[in-house]
This record gives sequence, C-alpha cells and structure tokens, in this order.
Amino acid sequence: MPITRALEILKHQFGYDDFRMNQQAAVECVLAKKDCLVLMPTGGGKSLCYQIPALMLDGLTVVVSPLIALMKDQVDALRLNGVNAAYLNSSQEASAQQEVIASLRNGDVRILYVAPERLLQGSGQFIDFLKSFRVSLFAIDEAHCISSWGHDFRPEYTQLGRLKGWFPDVPVIALTATADKLVRQDILEKLHIEHAEVFASSFNRANIFYRVEPKRDTYSQLFDYLDKRRNESGIIYCLSRNSVDALAADLRNDGFSALAYHAGHDKAKREKHQELFLRDEVKIMVATIAFGMGIDKSNVRFVVHHDLPKNIESYYQETGRAGRDGLESEALLFFSHGDVQKLKTFAEVEGNAEQTDIMLGKLNVMAQFGDLKTCRRKFLLQYFSEDSADKCGHCDNCLKTFERFDGTIIAQKALSAVYRTEQRMGLTYLVDFLRGAKSQKMREQHKQLPTYGIGADIPKTSWLAYFRELIEQGYLAQTTGQYPALVLTEKSRDVLKGKTIVELVKVVDEVARSGLGADQVVQDYFRDLFERLKVVRTEFARADNVPPYVIFSDVSLIEMATYLPQDSEQMLKISGVGDLKFEKYGTECLRVIKDYCEENQLESRIERKIPKRERKAGTRRSSDGSNTFEISLSMFQQGASISQIAIERKLSPNTIEAHLVRYMASGEVVLNDLVSTEKVEPIKQAILQFSGSSAIGPIKQFLGDQYSYGEINAVLATMGVVR
Ligand code: ADP
Ligand code: ZN
Repeated sequence: MPITRALEILKHQFGYDDFRMNQQAAVECVLAKKDCLVLMPTGGGKSLCYQIPALMLDGLTVVVSPLIALMKDQVDALRLNGVNAAYLNSSQEASAQQEVIASLRNGDVRILYVAPERLLQGSGQFIDFLKSFRVSLFAIDEAHCISSWGHDFRPEYTQLGRLKGWFPDVPVIALTATADKLVRQDILEKLHIEHAEVFASSFNRANIFYRVEPKRDTYSQLFDYLDKRRNESGIIYCLSRNSVDALAADLRNDGFSALAYHAGHDKAKREKHQELFLRDEVKIMVATIAFGMGIDKSNVRFVVHHDLPKNIESYYQETGRAGRDGLESEALLFFSHGDVQKLKTFAEVEGNAEQTDIMLGKLNVMAQFGDLKTCRRKFLLQYFSEDSADKCGHCDNCLKTFERFDGTIIAQKALSAVYRTEQRMGLTYLVDFLRGAKSQKMREQHKQLPTYGIGADIPKTSWLAYFRELIEQGYLAQTTGQYPALVLTEKSRDVLKGKTIVELVKVVDEVARSGLGADQVVQDYFRDLFERLKVVRTEFARADNVPPYVIFSDVSLIEMATYLPQDSEQMLKISGVGDLKFEKYGTECLRVIKDYCEENQLESRIERKIPKRERKAGTRRSSDGSNTFEISLSMFQQGASISQIAIERKLSPNTIEAHLVRYMASGEVVLNDLVSTEKVEPIKQAILQFSGSSAIGPIKQFLGDQYSYGEINAVLATMGVVR
C-alpha cells in the first residue's frame, strides 16, 4: 500500500504522525502519475506534497522555485531530515554548480531545487541534461508567478509552459497559496495541465488572532504591545522607509531587539538583517513591504501594520507570515482614516482611470475592514469567496458586544461643532474642541463659541469612533487633501433640526481572548524548560549554520516541554522528531529535559499525547467536511430548495450554495439550478470586468446585494474556474 509507505516516511523522516488538509490526496495523486494543483494557505504544508512522493518515486524530483534566497534553507532542512537534496541557482559559484551536476549524474540526489531561469538556461542544454536521466516529478512552487493576473507575475515562469511538451509523461504538481480563482485557471492553462486535479484547502488561518486598534498615539500603544512580548519574534510593517528607520531606532533606544529593512538599504545590509532575524538573534524586524517574500521563518508570533496596507490581498499575505508553525499568533493593525486619505493619493495609476478605480475600490474595502463591527475573519474569508461561520470567536470583534443606541444628541453636538467652526477643521481638532481642550492649538475665537466643551463628558476614543460613524452614515463628509476638514452634507440639516434619529454603536462588553485557533498543543507547558531548550537549539543552529527553526520548530520544543519525554522511544513521539534529527539532537535535548525533571521532581507525561488519528476516531467526516457536501446534494436532488436545506441543516444559504457549486463540474447540478437566467449575463460581464482583480469580493461588491456569492461562484464554475 503506497499510503502506508507514505505514512512511514512522514513519521520516520519528518517526525509527523498524520497528514494535514489535502496532503494525502495530493501525494496519492502524484504517485498515480497524475498532474495536480495544490492550493493551501501559507504554513499549510505544501512542501510535503512533493517531498514525500520524491522519496517514493524512482528518479529525480525537480522543484522549480523563484525564491533563490530560500533554496539553501529548504535544502538544509531536508538534509537535516536525511534527504539528499541540492539546488542550482545564479547565486552559486561555478564550482559549486559543477559539484551538484556531478552528484546528479551519480544519481545520488533525490530532490533538486532550481530557479526557472536556470532550468531554461541557454538553448535548452539543461533540459537535455535532465532528459538524459530519469525525472520522476516536476513541482512548480509559487505557481501563481506564471499568471499575469496574479500579484507576483514573473515573466521567466511563462517558459515553464514548455515542460509538458518536453516531458509529456512526467507528472507536474503546481503549488500556490493564492486564493484567486482566475489565477488558478490561468496556472492550469499556462502549464498545460488543464486536466489536473485541483486540491483546494480552506484559506482560513485559524491560529491568527485579528485585531484592529485606532491609530492615535501609536508609539506608546506599540511599546505596551511589544513590552508584553519580549521573547517573541515579530514583523512591524510601515509605509515609508523613513518611518521604518525612525521606528527601529526608537525601539532600540527603548531596549527592544529591533532592526530595519527596506529597499533603500544596500544588499549586504539587507541580507545581514534578514539573517539575524531568521536566526532569532534579533526579535523584531521593522520593515516596508519589501521584506517578507520568501520568509518562511515559522515562529513569527505577531505581525503589526503600523500603517494601513493598500488592499486586503496585501494585508492577508503580510499577516499570513505570522504563525506558520500553527501556534497562536496575532495580527494587529493600527487603523486611521487619515491613512486611507493618504493612500488615496498613491492609488492613482497615471493615465489609467480604470486601473485607478480598481485600486481605489480595493482601498475602500480595506477601510471597511478597519471600521468593521462584525467578525474580521468572516470578512476576510468572504473577500476570498470562502464561506464561514458568522463569528469566529478569535478576532477582536468577536470578543466584543456592540449595542446600537439613539445617538441623536451626540450627532447634533458633533454637527454643530463642524458648523460653528465653519467646516474648516479636521477630526482631531473637532474632538478636542468638543471636549473643551485647553491646548495651544485651540483657536481663541473658537473658545468663545457655545459649542466649545459641550462634549467633555464623552472620552476622546468614543468621540473619534462616533465621528467616523457619522461619516460612514453620510451625516458628515471629509474633504480630500493633506489636511482633510469635516464638512456638512445634505443629510446634516435634518439632524440639526431634530428631524432625524441617528443610531450609533458602542461596545458594551468585551471578553478576554483565548488561544482558540491554535493547533492542539497543550497550553500549560513548562515555560522555563522551553526557554532552556531554545538555548540548546540555538547552539545547534550556530554549529550547523542554519536557522534555529530548521533544527526543531517551536511546536517540537513546546511538545517536549509539555510531555517531558525521558527516553528515545518517547522522544520519537514528539512532533517533528524524525529518526535522523533524533540521532543528531535527541540525546542532548533528553539530557536537558531529564535535568529539569529531576530538579522539579517531575515525570514523563508522554501518555497524555494522543496521536491525532486516534482523536479523530469515530468521526468519519473528513476535516474539510466532504460528507457535508454530499448531504446538501442529496437533499437538493430530492427536491428541497436551497433555503429549505439551509434551515434544515442549520447552515446559511451561502454555505449550501457553495456545497452545490461543487457538483457543477460533474453535471449533477446545472447552472439554472442556482442562478436565474436573467442574472447570468450581468454576472459574466462583472467577472470579465474584474479579471485583473484577485478575488471575488470586488465582483460581489460591484454587483450589489441582489447577487449572492453562490450565484457568482456558479457562473465562475461554468467559465471553467473551479473552486
Ligand atoms: P507552506 O509551504 O505551505 O507555507 P510548509 O511546507 O513550509 O508550508 O510547512 C509549514 C510547517 O508545517 C513546516 O514547519 C512543516 O514542517 C509543518 N508541517 C507540514 N506538514 C505537516 C504535518 N502533516 N504535520 C505536522 N507538521 C507539518
Ligand atoms: Zn471573528
């Protein structure tokens, strides 16, 4: 049984008990010599999808990757697990390349990483070379780089379309973390693997807690935040190079271990800073978005956006760098409408009104996210056309209870402040004015007005929130420009005259957060033992010249500090401890653990570690819920309507639609089951119009409430785009 063998390799070589998500399906597909496309979020475990088959197939697996900087780490990590891997790219010396070529000839190498330009170098010499011996699999990592619709198009990737012609019998596995459907379709076409099986996983990053804070006195907010996380690694993104340098310097002055990274530094400095961060020698990287592509450091515990990202795609990608190891992590955004205004000026694409509109549209959605009162995860997943529960329980808004109340008087005070100061003042000034601030900035003539100080009973934060809501509801508007002023609108008059009731929202309750979304690692591990193990890990990492997380991930160390293994047999039960790693590092870790147990009179707790496979026993439902789709289908086939199924199954109609869309490819469900005829054409038009965008969110926004995600997805499916 191939899969038994695959599980053995998973355990012995990589130290893991179970496959995750679609890993097993992808491995089986490749072993059957079929092409496939694997879509998994960052940290999902894409690499094992080709690494395990590589060890089972005769011959060489060639992995094409654009991330030259990562190749060495990937190869080092494989070698530490006893896999003979190598890489070829332009950063290597000629002699090193010759060595690799020689060991390829000997047939020693199982996995070869190569940059696309190296693969296709010259007039196909390297291809001829590869043809001279057995290639059993091509893996195309970061496959979205082949699509000009993606956010990261690389022209050299287009050449990969020729691989199928050169090697018609060698299966291709394409992998990406891009959720965009049009890009997926493009990947299949450009690689000529139209019939490939598509394995799509949920893009939810359950272990990331999403939080948004109003941006005010950011430095002191940041200080408090970081002060609680002195032992953790994180990235802070800023918009400009200047603010990166300044913030990094301030943090260092305040005793934090922080460095700066942006494209204005020379290459040597960038590389050095990145290296120090990867090796845990420096905890915090303050950076522009130039930092991150290809950072696969698994123990990044937080990502802070000091400034607003341009769109949801960037936000999701950048926050996705947190918690690749599956442990509890956090994404924090400092949000202000001032940032939205600032970014608007950047959104302009010169001479291209259409593109400018798309950019502004995306920025708008990003601003909506900042203002959101409902579940942030749901919003994000919906943007990527994925359905989810209304509340995730693991974001700031899910922990808050909001209450609507009659805010007419508050609104009247705010609007008359705007009116009395002649519609020329900005948000912060108005709040200070209402609160009767004594500061120098306050103009003398304003202090004489009757409105001055009439809002002193309401805290500043609440005022800022109320003003924002009044803008959102159209009772106030904000001028553009560097110093936007608040002005009245057509709707303002009725409020001032007392003819309209204004509803506002306030937070009435907030519960403490828990580590809900993280993997099932026990929370109460021995923290001081964990710290000792980290020290040992760092020593090994320095000796072997690799980043610490390549030796053992934080998950492995936390498991050791939880279950306290006492001998080799117990140690091999720890996640990530394969045979070779045990041989190299196991004894030393055991010694540290045993010392600790002796000092504290503790014993092994390994019996508490239950393999996931046993935990799941009894529930046949797979983790991505394949059965649930079938139930919806069979009810539908028996004549129930979507809303009836939704009620019966206590799921949302959106979810049921998503279930049914899956059966369009097989013809069990047809388009007219899901979309009425007159809606099809408008949806198609909208899809075509947004073909440059990377998600269904903008299409839905454009079409409005009359159209559901399910309807759009159904039409997408007929256009050959699978979910
Ligand atoms: P991706 O390329 O999708 O971002 P990786 O392949 O780098 O993700 O895997 C992310 C992390 O998850 C790695 O530390 C990897 O060792 C770990 N991992 C992958 N598959 C499993 C599994 N089946 N069980 C436990 N850990 C896994
Ligand atoms: Zn939530």
